[in-house]
This record gives sequence, C-alpha cells and structure tokens, in this order.
Amino acid sequence: MITFNVPPYADKAYDYIRECVKNQKICGDGPYTKKCNEWIERTTGTAKCLLTTSCTHATELAALLLPQIGPGDEVIMPSFTFVSTADAFVLRGAVPVFVDIRPDTMNIDEKLIEPAITERTKAIVPVHYAGVACEMDTIMEIAGRRRLAVIEDAAQGIMSTYRGKALGTFGNFGCFSFHETKNYSMGEGGALLIRDQKDVEEAEIIREKGTNRSKYYRGQIDKYTWINYGSSYLPSDMNAAYLYAQLEIAEQINEARITCWNRYYRNLGPLADAGKIELPAVPEGCVHNGHMFYIKTADIGERTAFIDYLKEKGIHAVFHYIPLHTAPAGLKFGRFHGEDRYTTRESERLVRLPMYYGLNLEQVDYICDTVKRFYA
Ligand SMILES: *Cc1c(COP(=O)(O)O)cnc(C)c1O
Repeated sequence: MITFNVPPYADKAYDYIRECVKNQKICGDGPYTKKCNEWIERTTGTAKCLLTTSCTHATELAALLLPQIGPGDEVIMPSFTFVSTADAFVLRGAVPVFVDIRPDTMNIDEKLIEPAITERTKAIVPVHYAGVACEMDTIMEIAGRRRLAVIEDAAQGIMSTYRGKALGTFGNFGCFSFHETKNYSMGEGGALLIRDQKDVEEAEIIREKGTNRSKYYRGQIDKYTWINYGSSYLPSDMNAAYLYAQLEIAEQINEARITCWNRYYRNLGPLADAGKIELPAVPEGCVHNGHMFYIKTADIGERTAFIDYLKEKGIHAVFHYIPLHTAPAGLKFGRFHGEDRYTTRESERLVRLPMYYGLNLEQVDYICDTVKRFYA
C-alpha cells in the first residue's frame, strides 16, 4: 500500500529530544523553540517568528492582535480552505465573507476581493493553496488602499516564494503549520510570522497568557505581571526539537518533494494534453514547495470511481475541502459574496495523490501508470 502521507522525520530528532529530557527543558520557549524561531526569521526574512501550538492557534493569535476585528465585522477569505482560516475570526464574532477561487490555482480570485468590501470589512485572509502563492501584489495593493489588515494562511506555504519573497511575510501576520501532514512537522504545531516590529511585544504578551513573561525571561524586567487578555500558544520544547531536526535539512526535504512533484507532472502531462485530466498551475513569479500534487477529474462521479480504482491497486488518494460556505458552521457564521462559479465545482473534481518526504520515484511512476490505466 502506498499511503497518502507519512509524517516527516529527520534522524537527529532522537538526539535533540533526548537532550530536552536529559536537561529537563521541556516547557515552552526553550533552546529548540529559539532555534526554530531564528531559523524561520533567517530563512523568510520576517521581523519576528513565534512558534505556536498549531497554525489554527497562530491564526487565532493574529486575530487577537487585531482588536479592530470584533462582532459583526467582516473578513474576506476563500471558501475553499480548511476550517481554521475561518474559526479564528468567528471566535472574535466576525463574519467570514467567502469569495470565489481561481480555477487554475484554487486560490482566492484577487479580482473578486474589492467588490466584496463593505464598510464593515477589516481584513483579507489569502490562503496559499498547495504552497502556490496568491496574487500578493494585487492583494497588498487593495489592502493598502482600503486600509485592511492581511493575515496570510501560509499553513502549506513554508519554503515557497512569490516574486522572490517568502510566503507569510507579505501580510501583517503570516501563519505556518507544522501538523504531521505538512512539509515540516512537530506533530502538532505552527508559527506566527510578524512583519512589523511594532506588533512583536503585544504578540509575545498574548501568546504568554496576557503576561510580559517573555520580557522577564530575557532579563528585561525583574518580575512579570498580567498586562492584557491572552492565551497559551507555546508548544513544548520537545516538539520544537523534533521540528528543528527537519529544518536543518529543509533544503533536502524540499528538493525531494519537488523531484516527486516534477515526476508526477511530467508523467501525467500526456493525459492532460489529451484532455482527460487537469494538472495544477504554477503562475509566473511563484516558486512552490512541492506540498501537494493534485489532479482534477471530469466530475465528482469520476473522482469517486478513480479513488476506488487507486485503492484497489494499493494507492491511497484523498480529496478535500468541503467548501466552508456549504458546511453547517459556514451557513451559520458566514456568507458567500457573488457567484460560486468555481469553488464547489472545482473542489468536487480535485484528488490529491500520495506526497511525502521519503516517497520514491518508482512509487510515483507506479502511481502514474495506475492513473493512466484508469483512463485507458
Ligand atoms: C493544515 C492547515 C491549517 C491548520 O493547521 P494546524 O497546524 O493543523 O492548525 C490551516 N489552514 C490550512 C490551509 C491548512 O492546510
């Protein structure tokens, strides 16, 4: 059986976790958390990175850092995304306003953002699907002119760039995921990227239960106290140790994924040329990270038959997302602006093929041969 995902792992993880246990440094913001933060700051060029317990929590923390977003305010985002993108803002009482996606990248259609803006709109949340960037020049231009905050859901976007700049560094805040299904993992975890130095102190406070404990740990004050509302978004240093082992070999992991991605793309090219399937698009200026390889079938019926056929041949393929605006919570908390031309239709055609660090080219070739046999 070729499984859909295998959590990423680097050999050094054992040594690093053993060190945490031996030194009894297992709580948050220990040496490995600092190493991860610094690595992300260096690699992406963001002003500040704070490791969090998940990408969901990083997004929640970003929402808490934007007190202008309150009950009844609106936040524009795609409906084709994971629930966390919306949850963070729904928890603040805000209304997710869903707009349609582009069929080529499955990302928010940047041309539909401005028509969805009302006097209650406070933020835009682009989601970089499959690690392929949204049209950030357009999105940042609109946000600047209309004075809106931008929170990038870059859960899938670490190591990807848009016009040479790392995803997660365009908006006021960027959110990475280190869930076990992502390119780099700590089991459960994430990171908040902070673009502007002025937001760093408040972020540290809210992440530390509303206290200035981070300053205390740095020796900048001699006791810490309760300053603001907050929560606890620090992961254990053992999780950070597991992640850091992968970050040290991030290039190698990235290249291995890209190699598989390119092999899929090349092998399946003829099927796409023959009009049987569609392949993902990577627009000019976007460098992706091989997070995901998906194809599009003709429709939902063909997709079901396709997934069943692959399963019979020992290949686990999956699909996602049920568009948020059609889900019970989406109906309750949000609304769709404009026409759903592509969100539902394209989401019903999409299938993800196995993709993980450690997948080898023989396996990719076998999967592609099986896909071709299905269409023969
Ligand atoms: C994985 C994912 C998340 C959630 O990440 P967690 O770390 O599991 O909270 C959010 N948004 C998108 C687009 C994702 O793919």
